[in-house]
Amino acid sequence: MEEFKDYLKILKSLGFNEIFIEKEEQSVKATDKIKLLKEIEEQIKNCTKCELHLSRTKAVPGEGNPDAKLMFVGEAPGGDEDKQGRPFVGRAGKLLTKMIEATGHKREEFYITNTVKCRPPNNRTPTPWEQETCWPYLEKQIELINPKVICLLGAAAGYAFLKRPVKITKERGQIIKWNNRLLYLTYHPAYVLRNLQAEPILLQDIKKAIELAYSQEE
Ligand code: SF4
Repeated sequence: MEEFKDYLKILKSLGFNEIFIEKEEQSVKATDKIKLLKEIEEQIKNCTKCELHLSRTKAVPGEGNPDAKLMFVGEAPGGDEDKQGRPFVGRAGKLLTKMIEATGHKREEFYITNTVKCRPPNNRTPTPWEQETCWPYLEKQIELINPKVICLLGAAAGYAFLKRPVKITKERGQIIKWNNRLLYLTYHPAYVLRNLQAEPILLQDIKKAIELAYSQEE
């Protein structure tokens, strides 16, 4: 019941003041999803599968709408995220939130996470092995949330999905079919903070990713 209340809170934050439950099994399905996502969160919080657990303050499983049509996946938690246990809450996260809002949407509509759930020391790029070790958590989150589009923020996120080096300045804006979903590559907001000329491009890409996620075309 607690999980269902959480689900109702999420819907309310998205502006739904009334919901219609046609069949009991639909609510059971929704609560199952919340429950399974929470189980993954607990596994992540207790995970010691790679050395990143040694330096973390808090693991950062991810947050957002469990029925999101669009997921944002970044590289790894940074300092603010590590302190709070929440994704994209530092300067780069605030920029991402600002850009989502500039498109007329709310951050809570989407699910936001990273390729690894614990902060790498000194914010270094996670190694391929660390990404691979953490991958089953992200894979399970994707399977449960079932987004139409996954927006990959930065080259390291691209690497985790495509299993090859990604030149983000050349490949951003590309739409790639992946396991019956669409991957959309763009800059990491932290890169944009260092390269302000890229800000309109990131905004345009976020808008495009949202349009793709909400479009009726397959
Ligand atoms: S980064 Fe992922 S695999 Fe490594 S300890 Fe954290 S949750 Fe576990």
